[in-house]
Amino acid sequence: MTDLFPPDAVLEHLFTGTTWGEGPVWLPRSRRLRWSDIPANRILEYDEATGATSVFRAEAEYPNGRTLDRQGRVVQCSHGRRAVEREGDDGPHTLVDRWTEGRFNSPNDLVVARDGAIWFTDPPYGIHESGREGHPGEPEYGGCYVFRFDERSGEVTPVVTDMVHPNGLAFAPDESILYVADTGYLQVTGAPGGIRAYNVVDGARCDNGRDLVTVRPGATDGLRVDVEGRIWSSSADSVQVFTPAGDRLATIPVPEKIANLCFGGDDGRTLYITASTSLYRIRTTTTDAAF
Ligand code: MG
Repeated sequence: MTDLFPPDAVLEHLFTGTTWGEGPVWLPRSRRLRWSDIPANRILEYDEATGATSVFRAEAEYPNGRTLDRQGRVVQCSHGRRAVEREGDDGPHTLVDRWTEGRFNSPNDLVVARDGAIWFTDPPYGIHESGREGHPGEPEYGGCYVFRFDERSGEVTPVVTDMVHPNGLAFAPDESILYVADTGYLQVTGAPGGIRAYNVVDGARCDNGRDLVTVRPGATDGLRVDVEGRIWSSSADSVQVFTPAGDRLATIPVPEKIANLCFGGDDGRTLYITASTSLYRIRTTTTDAAF
């Protein structure tokens, strides 16, 4: 192991029982890890104090990625509602589900910038005919974009339009770069697959998109960036950590295909990993740049 982990760090298995675990977020007030079981259409919570896992919500409209906004409230993607929504005391409220060209496909993952704007990806996994991860439906705008939603103005702007199936995303610590995973190659013959980097201009648009790293086996689905700017990526068999230049620093084997990961715990230095049927965690020496 590297100095990314304490000497005694081990991968801990916490729970098994999801169909496809995704969208983890750490809830500091309740000290719980909340995540999605997309095909089972439910939201789960792991209680760090007791080690128990419980169902936070069933019939949850196929939720996917989630994060906290600047006020610490949960914002999440809903395949079923084709929307980005915020959790309130009385349940989720849709923040945005369309732009000028039509409804979104099925928002997949999201981040909140320091100015409060929500940036999210919109691949089609939730509207497939199979209905495995949502309700079958038609794409309405002819692409799969990354959008920026400014809640104050209500403005929705496409910021990345040159990807096949944009998926996980995260900002560099100073928000000068946006990293976005493209999982398109898993479904579309000849499509690219890997993490792309974009310069963020004026906090509101992207340019100079370039391929940064191709993660195999499998692909990068969810990813996070730590305070040193390192990129923590999912893959089919491991968590893989990269420098901002795309050089691999570490590989942490995980016995199941990983969908997503997040930092959490009281000091923010525990990495939680949602991997197919199970939830895992491992202690690290760093934390999320967005904290
Ligand atoms: Mg995803």
